[in-house]
Amino acid sequence: MNRILIAEDEGRIASFLEKGLRGNGFTTTVVADGVAAYEYARAGRFDLMILDIGLPLSDGFTVLRRLRQEMATIPVIILTARDSVADTVAGLEGGADDYLAKPFSFEELLARVRLRLRPERVPETTVLRVGDLALDLRTRRAHVGEHSVDLSTREFALAEIFCRHPDQVLTRQQLLSHVWGFDFDPGSNVVDVYVRYLRRKLGNQRIETVRGSGYRLRVR
Ligand code: CA
Repeated sequence: MNRILIAEDEGRIASFLEKGLRGNGFTTTVVADGVAAYEYARAGRFDLMILDIGLPLSDGFTVLRRLRQEMATIPVIILTARDSVADTVAGLEGGADDYLAKPFSFEELLARVRLRLRPERVPETTVLRVGDLALDLRTRRAHVGEHSVDLSTREFALAEIFCRHPDQVLTRQQLLSHVWGFDFDPGSNVVDVYVRYLRRKLGNQRIETVRGSGYRLRVR
């Protein structure tokens, strides 16, 4: 199992990352300042670190520089504010493997994490099956029975969360935060629009509306 260190002082983002990563089979530890981030990363029990730049005590750049000076090879994905991407790119010379600008969706983060971990250490599941629906997580292709179905990135992410929770009611808020990210307008109807797209592509009866609650993937 992959162990991920999350260095993020904003509680809402830390718990968004933690929940999502745990839901995908990773073990997580959260630290909220730069000194702890450095200590934990240096202890070497983690396969990857997600490192916020704006951390108290010691910022993300300093943490990263110190780790690389000590030849710590842990893969690091930097989180940064959208308006300081230029600084961040400069900071990558300090030894980060990748960065994400906030706000980001969980889908984007997960793709980066999987990319940065060595392939043989990525969690095993590669095909999710619910009834005659199959999602291949490596090729990002969907199949209904014998037929292959083209899904956009967002459609695939939405289909994936349904397949990971078959027969469970998922609220719009859960779907929004998983597929579109934590900063998406909660009043948006984008979930309903994408559920309609999925019904059109995967079959009308597959995703059921649960009035006042959300949506459920039916298990046939
Ligand atoms: Ca911060």
